[in-house]
Amino acid sequence: MRLSMYDTASREVQEIAPGKDSISMYCCGPTVYRDAHVGNLRTFILSDLIQRTLKLQGSTVALIQNITDVGHMADDVTVEDKVLQQAKKENIDPFEIARKYEAKFHHDLALLNIEPAAKYPRASETIDLMQVMISKLIKNSFAYVGSDSNVYFSVKSFASYGAISGNRIDSLQPGHRYEYLDEGGKLFHADWALWKSAGDRTQMIWDSPWGPGFPGWHIECSAMSMDLLDNHVDIHVGGIDLRFPHHENERAQSNAMTQSESVALWVHGEHLLFEGRKMSKSAGNVILLSDITARGIDPLALRLVIQENRYRSQMDLTWDSIESAFITLKRWRMKVEMWGSSLIVKKDEEIYESFMNDLDTPRVIQRLRTLERDLTISDEIKRAIFLYADQVLALDMHVAKRLLALPKNCEALLEERKIARANKDWARSDALRDELGELGIHVSDTSAGQEWDFA
Ligand code: AMP
Ligand code: ZN
Repeated sequence: MRLSMYDTASREVQEIAPGKDSISMYCCGPTVYRDAHVGNLRTFILSDLIQRTLKLQGSTVALIQNITDVGHMADDVTVEDKVLQQAKKENIDPFEIARKYEAKFHHDLALLNIEPAAKYPRASETIDLMQVMISKLIKNSFAYVGSDSNVYFSVKSFASYGAISGNRIDSLQPGHRYEYLDEGGKLFHADWALWKSAGDRTQMIWDSPWGPGFPGWHIECSAMSMDLLDNHVDIHVGGIDLRFPHHENERAQSNAMTQSESVALWVHGEHLLFEGRKMSKSAGNVILLSDITARGIDPLALRLVIQENRYRSQMDLTWDSIESAFITLKRWRMKVEMWGSSLIVKKDEEIYESFMNDLDTPRVIQRLRTLERDLTISDEIKRAIFLYADQVLALDMHVAKRLLALPKNCEALLEERKIARANKDWARSDALRDELGELGIHVSDTSAGQEWDFA
């Protein structure tokens, strides 16, 4: 039995790359103008679950995940590049913004035990690939230069448009979100820009055969996936909001260029809500991984609670559910340590089949809960099965006491204590040590300065 997953295009659960040992995978990456929130992280965990499950079945995986550092417009009204908008707000260079949030993205992935992709190509460094692809699309009459010097994909040239989302060309109404207000030069309202003319924009622009400008967002994923994965993607992953127009447009571009079905399976993760509502700045409920660690909670508690839900269902995250996952995680780690010290893993058929059956992680976790209580199974076997499941769940179950990132508020207290000691203010230094102790941080003074650990 091999991994099968729900394909949005065929609306069926299908085996991934039947008969192939080496599997190509693409996951739409972050737009690096802000920290990833826990919703974004749910989608990146989904990609990791797929990669790890494919490895569990014995396949090798070539995963590519792009970094969008140019071309993703904020919305259809302001039409400003998300990265440039943030650069203005923070008053720093847009590439500095992009690199800052890219580094934070990698940091979050590491805290969540997400295995790195083979490559993380940046849009801004793939401009030549995109231009080659756009030129081919123009040559083959799938794209044209508009009266405003933008290059557009001609949706009417691509007969099977709408196969993923069900949004067929004749049902697309003018004035919807897929069209931008500054795209007056196109022939048909649902055409989209592959290349945008610089206009009065001066940053993040490149020369091109169609004049200075910058790429549209959708073309980057086509250019990167087709170039780096040899014109065929076995499994393509992203959040459900990307189904249309992003993936529909990506499919049109890639299929038009390769004259084949470029992606075998389109997998979409459902959205994460926080305390019953869509996460948004205006609602004030955008939760970051750092908000979780600031409460002294292991980031892998987030991974556990996400995996307690099926990727295809909308999920409502709450502080209570994160905290109760943290309690389970600590108990499991303690028990796994109590059950022995061997790193041997033992395959459990029910767990294997649950992973392979469209990533039924809730069932895997249920099985672990049952095993935990089962008095007929020896401790060694329990430990070996927990470690087997952990190859995919990636909860560090073999590490009884995991080092966590230092909570934010403790960082400031440690800094203040350092200054108090430099000023020989021993009373303040001791008071701060007590305060940190209450927050679960043990401070000791060594010849190299103060050091901390979890109490
Ligand atoms: P972005 O950085 O906004 O381009 O999004 C990165 C990934 O996160 C994409 O695959 C999105 O579909 C996904 N995503 C955005 N919001 C959510 C959410 N609330 N829950 C799950 N995934 C999301
Ligand atoms: Zn994409």
